[in-house]
Amino acid sequence: MRWCPTSVLHLLRSLRLRSCTRRGRNKLPPWIKEMWSYMKLLVQSLYFNSLTDSDVVFDSIFEPVFWTVDYVTRWFGLVFVCLVVILTSSILGIAYLVLLPLILNTYSPPWIAWHICYGHWNLIMIVFHYYKAAKTSPGWPPTEKNETPFVSVCKKCIIAKPARAHHCGICNRCILKMDHHCPWLNNCVGHFNHRYFFSFCLFMTLGCVYCSISGRNLFLDAYNALERFKHLDMEKPGVQVTGMGLLIGLLPPGQTTYQTPAPSYTFKDKMIHKSIIYMWVLTSTVGLALGALTIWHAVLISRGETSIERHINSKETKRMAKWGKVYRNPFNYGKMNNWKIFFGVEKKSHWVTRVLLPSGHTPHGDGLTWDTFPVKKDLIPV
Ligand SMILES: [Zn+2]
Ligand SMILES: [Zn+2]
Repeated sequence: MRWCPTSVLHLLRSLRLRSCTRRGRNKLPPWIKEMWSYMKLLVQSLYFNSLTDSDVVFDSIFEPVFWTVDYVTRWFGLVFVCLVVILTSSILGIAYLVLLPLILNTYSPPWIAWHICYGHWNLIMIVFHYYKAAKTSPGWPPTEKNETPFVSVCKKCIIAKPARAHHCGICNRCILKMDHHCPWLNNCVGHFNHRYFFSFCLFMTLGCVYCSISGRNLFLDAYNALERFKHLDMEKPGVQVTGMGLLIGLLPPGQTTYQTPAPSYTFKDKMIHKSIIYMWVLTSTVGLALGALTIWHAVLISRGETSIERHINSKETKRMAKWGKVYRNPFNYGKMNNWKIFFGVEKKSHWVTRVLLPSGHTPHGDGLTWDTFPVKKDLIPV
């Protein structure tokens, strides 16, 4: 046998390379080796998988981010709930301690009656719906074997998933007719508490708009007064006092504008002004943000879809359009019927008793099976 120097050289080189790699690998701690093999398996399972698409790759890459967000949201849920309670209570405190005395002293009896009746009705609706939305279970699919028809199997819970049910990463379970997980409620919004959630958003927005509109002049007065106080601190001249003077006792009743000598405004006066400014800024901001969210949810309810279904339906619409077909949402029963089903309105009086007054009635259906389009027109009376 004749030795070829080139082939021997190649053999030696490859042996050296292999031993170097083995030696190098052996030096690595076991957890890195484990991680490396896991990453390799992950890439291979994604690459050699006929079901892999951009969504699967995106989900796999961002899984650590989703996990962190879910984990933080789960643990901070209680903090958000406390924040809602504290902020709402602070506005309530200002309304009772600052605004109510002003209303009782300056407004005519019909206006006093309106403010007291509307304010308390709105407050009851907010508290009732917030409590019910946070405390009512959104509804979960049965975990034991049953005859309920299902559309898929949850990869995480390994249970049958009925139509409209989705898995919530924060609650770590499947939710019936899931809309979204709300950190402000520390609860998922699903089949059994969707109405409470929407009503809370609606009445909270109305309450904020009410405070913002009726407190606008007070806010301007308080803001101007604080500005003047700032100048007084520097120059100590006379001060012009307007409507707010009535509230803090700077002027005798009946006078709205008067040139007075520099008043000895106290810490309490400043706090009253600041609390009015705080109330107006907070209610206006929340009113705008929550108002936009409420309108968006109202649009979704009119279309008979949840926040999650909105994404699914728009994807389906595009996919069907490519085939020259029109996608029809099977859970859209028509605008008016969608609202009646959502609020559980079965006769005319229910618009008052079930929508405008606190009501604990359960929603239409069990959340496991759904009537699909087209629905008989007489299914929902009224
Ligand atoms: Zn699940
Ligand atoms: Zn959830």
